[in-house]
Amino acid sequence: LFIAFEGGDGAGKSTQAAKLAEALERRGLSVLRTREPGGTPIGEKLRSLVLDHGHGHIDAHTEALIFAASRAAHAVQVIRPALERGEIVLTDRYIDSSVAYQGAGRDLGMDAVRSLNEWATSGLQPHLTVLLDVEPQVGRTRRTAGDAAEDRLESEADEFHSRIREAFLGLAALRPGSYLVLPASRPVDELAADILERVEALLAA
Ligand code: C5P
Repeated sequence: LFIAFEGGDGAGKSTQAAKLAEALERRGLSVLRTREPGGTPIGEKLRSLVLDHGHGHIDAHTEALIFAASRAAHAVQVIRPALERGEIVLTDRYIDSSVAYQGAGRDLGMDAVRSLNEWATSGLQPHLTVLLDVEPQVGRTRRTAGDAAEDRLESEADEFHSRIREAFLGLAALRPGSYLVLPASRPVDELAADILERVEALLAA
């Protein structure tokens, strides 16, 4: 079972992925938690290329290709082998993040970025995407409270984050059966309970 957590910066994706992993492990299931951009040595290097200051400006196409390269390595080196071992894979971000950030946020076109990433991953899609929908203003407050404040993208306008939010919601609307969309503003434990319920239903199916 392959589950992606998606949503804007500050949505609480890693908190919910950690809670779900804990709940599933308590049930004796084997879980692999991973994140993008990163998850492999090459991926972590690519991540720092995109996210660290000091490389100068990176144009949108280069950024999209670096994320796609990182994801290709992640899919083939980490996600597929774990799925083949029968593990439940939880990833913090996947293709939808690129479609939203580079496709919509940076205006490269959602379809182009989706095709690039489907090619990069040989079509590996999550069974379920948990979309934590965050209002840009809320995300900004949460972001600046944590490490992510260092992030180059934190300086982008709320308008950029609004485009990203709409893109994520649009992707969920295209394939509602494969998404669980939850408002990130709800209490953490309630969100965790709803996510676990949906995942248990998938495991029982
Ligand atoms: O997931 P995390 O918040 O650690 O991601 C780091 C940064 O990378 C975020 O600020 C996010 O906005 C950005 N990002 C991006 N394009 C992606 C994935 C992440 O711009 N495809």
